[in-house]
Amino acid sequence: ASFEELNLIQPIQKALKSLNYSNPTPIQEQAIPLILQKKDLLGCAQTGTGKTAAFAIPILQLLNEELKQSHQKNAIKALIVTPTRELAIQIGDSFSDYGKNLRLKHAVIFGGVNQKSQVDALQKGVDILVATPGRLLDLMHQKHLSLKHISLFVLDEADRMLDMGFINDVKKIIAVLPQHRQSLFFSATMPPVIQKLSEEILKSPVKVEV
Ligand code: AMP
Repeated sequence: ASFEELNLIQPIQKALKSLNYSNPTPIQEQAIPLILQKKDLLGCAQTGTGKTAAFAIPILQLLNEELKQSHQKNAIKALIVTPTRELAIQIGDSFSDYGKNLRLKHAVIFGGVNQKSQVDALQKGVDILVATPGRLLDLMHQKHLSLKHISLFVLDEADRMLDMGFINDVKKIIAVLPQHRQSLFFSATMPPVIQKLSEEILKSPVKVEV
């Protein structure tokens, strides 16, 4: 299949062309149509499979559509939680790349650095937030951000969250998300604890394996 067959809007198609992406990877081919249909997704995929674009592209398209109607102009509508600073930065770069012809704004927040520039970015208003768990909870508790308008939630590299000891933080985040939302769950492996977590987060998910 080609990206043309995935019903992507022109501004995204143009961005992909300029990045020399000619064909979707297997996870993209399977996941993009399902996410555009607003299904919950359980994706078993490693880094290097193109999983970031598999969720970033349809999120941009769905939010772009929502933005035309929505009154929540400055609210965070999509949240991507990922275990490391490096992954958070890479995911932020992906949103910049695929969304460069759209007017959606995103911010990236992670621990280990001063929070000032991250707080400044949040105060300007963002549609999409990419975050590591600890810093997200910190800034939420300080009331620098609110998760009450989240319609799209992505948990990235769930098995690594477990390995790094972030599962309780992840559970605290999930507990404050709106019930009515679309959720996407990515993990390279599915140990029982992660399987159980996915069942707590997802509603009637479609499973995609690559
Ligand atoms: P990821 O698995 O999300 O870490 O992506 C791995 C790498 O593949 C990244 O550098 C992407 O820019 C690149 N990539 C993702 N999708 C495609 C595609 N359809 N065509 C070419 N490169 C891609």
